[in-house]
Amino acid sequence: MAPTAPKKPKNKKTAPLSPRRGLKNALGGPSFFGNLLTTVLIFLLLMSIYSLIEGFVQPTSSVPLSVVASDVGAGKISSITVNGDSLNLTYTDGSEKTSRKDPSAGLPETLATYGVTPEELSKVSITIQGQSGFQFWFLTLAPILIPLVFIALIFWFLSRQVKGAGMQAFSFGQSKARVIDPADLSQRVTFADVAGAREAKEELLEIVDFLKSPKKFLDIGARIPKGIILMGAPGTGKTLLARAVAGEAGVPFFSISGSEFVEMFVGVGASRVRDLFQLAKKAAPAIIFVDEIDAVGRVRGTGVGGGNDEREQTLNQILVEMDGFEPTEKVVVMAATNRPDVLDPALLRPGRFDRRVTIDLPDRRDREEILKIHARTKPLGPDVALAVIAERTPGFSGAELYSLMNEGAILAARENRKEVTQYDLIRSIEKVMLGPERKSHLLSKREKELTAYHEAGHALVSSVLEYADPVHKISVISRGRAAGYTLKLPFEDKKMQSKKQFLDDIAATLGGYVAEEMLFDDVTTGPSNDLMVITALARDMVVRYGMSDKLGPIAFGERALGNEPYSEEVAAKIDAEVSRIITDAKARAAQVISEHRKALDAIAKELTEKETVERDEFEKLLIANGITPKKKEEEGVTITT
Ligand code: ADP
Ligand code: MG
Ligand code: ZN
Repeated sequence: MAPTAPKKPKNKKTAPLSPRRGLKNALGGPSFFGNLLTTVLIFLLLMSIYSLIEGFVQPTSSVPLSVVASDVGAGKISSITVNGDSLNLTYTDGSEKTSRKDPSAGLPETLATYGVTPEELSKVSITIQGQSGFQFWFLTLAPILIPLVFIALIFWFLSRQVKGAGMQAFSFGQSKARVIDPADLSQRVTFADVAGAREAKEELLEIVDFLKSPKKFLDIGARIPKGIILMGAPGTGKTLLARAVAGEAGVPFFSISGSEFVEMFVGVGASRVRDLFQLAKKAAPAIIFVDEIDAVGRVRGTGVGGGNDEREQTLNQILVEMDGFEPTEKVVVMAATNRPDVLDPALLRPGRFDRRVTIDLPDRRDREEILKIHARTKPLGPDVALAVIAERTPGFSGAELYSLMNEGAILAARENRKEVTQYDLIRSIEKVMLGPERKSHLLSKREKELTAYHEAGHALVSSVLEYADPVHKISVISRGRAAGYTLKLPFEDKKMQSKKQFLDDIAATLGGYVAEEMLFDDVTTGPSNDLMVITALARDMVVRYGMSDKLGPIAFGERALGNEPYSEEVAAKIDAEVSRIITDAKARAAQVISEHRKALDAIAKELTEKETVERDEFEKLLIANGITPKKKEEEGVTITT
């Protein structure tokens, strides 16, 4: 394995195309209004040239043929120049006039019909002048061509404008890829910037090795995977890791997002893919990164919601490009998705994205490492213990930890402090989990009471049932989308959960619903999120964890259109089990609440008055009502709204 230490990026002499130069050209043009002004000026210029020539050819007043005839008869005209069907008349007094004749007849015949005798005509010198080729064509075509040129110019500038909006574009119809040049040290990311994800890094080291010295691999006939797909929850650092591979190897990084293709015109996506691959091949060794590939790579042809031609064409083009790779091509395609389940199987076939790297949510140690990375630029106070923050944030992704550190720094800065304290970080945990407090959102008195009973219901059931998480804090201050919330601290970092814990969790989550129903003899839309959570949980118990006695220890696959891993009959059984689990849990929650009705009232009253009840006060209320609080164990945090 190659050393992971960052190496000075190699000077890429082999790349004939400098991506940055391309970028600069695309961005260096004048502004849109500058363009418009130029267009208008060019138009005006053409118009004036045209009218100038027109004016030059027909300088003076025009007279009808009858006047010409009578003037010839009167001997007033000294000469006539015939130019096509236009006549230039020179009078004996030196003045000039023009006229027109019927193009099909000659001048003598025409004048004869007006009664001019041949003798009279012979006194006039007649010159027949062929129109010059240029003049003729210009005069005939200019009225048609000038508007056409003008329209073409407008289109051209508009298309440039469209590109400009997309920023880093190369030229119209070409790839909208962003390129990170390995020589640009400010943009460089290495493995040292990615905490945790040890296994993923190990796997990717091989790719780094290959991109660094492809010859070594190609000489020995080794076939390097063309496509690597990074799978993981949002914010786990997939994009970051892909960039780190490019940074480690010192190769250009071409990235494009699948979601960008979806809103494009049919055909544009495919041509962008083609251009992107061409650019990358020119710059090889290089990495092409397709972010959010599920946006284009969903199972094709299911007809759900109508086919999306653009998506399919784009996906097909990606497949065609990957299949067309020579074995010696030094381009590695990486892709990222948080929905590996919806990907088209064609993408995962050998020779395409056949290498899969999964990135898990960080565990406690990784979380601490991630916090450390993001604390590098922030002065921390002496009391800060990142290990404690890491302990309290199970389920946080790297991106959430990043924003936690950032929120902490914002809190410190707002209070004009030079250092971030532990308290700043603790407050940030809640903020990241729930969104900021919405002080402006005032609940009406009834809403507040209802929310108080709802949260009290959660808290009470959580405290009474043996395996539910102990309550840390309850609040009816609305946060994010939630009207109120109950913060619970689970006993352990929930890596593994048991059936009993799940059942108690479901009952506690239903506590809010049950309290509302019992007290107000009505239910609101408030618990809709709770219901979503428990339905998903109950379903997982049955189909994933084998926690249903009726169906037994079987993990059933996802049932989707065209993919039916089990029969209708089994599906009905699953639904029945899910509904039984929920009904049982509801009955247990109802029993706890009616048994401890006095405690519920006390908690709700306290909540209505104080809006936020911390753990100590809450436990006093429990003890006063004959409930023994659970032993304190500070680990992660879960929230029920
Ligand atoms: P994804 O692409 O998986 O949604 P990103 O790579 O965009 O996630 O991560 C967003 C941000 O979160 C990163 O820019 C980084 O600041 C932070 N982050 C995520 N995972 C990690 C990690 N393992 N180590 C350090 N920072 C991380
Ligand atoms: Mg990403
Ligand atoms: Zn709730």
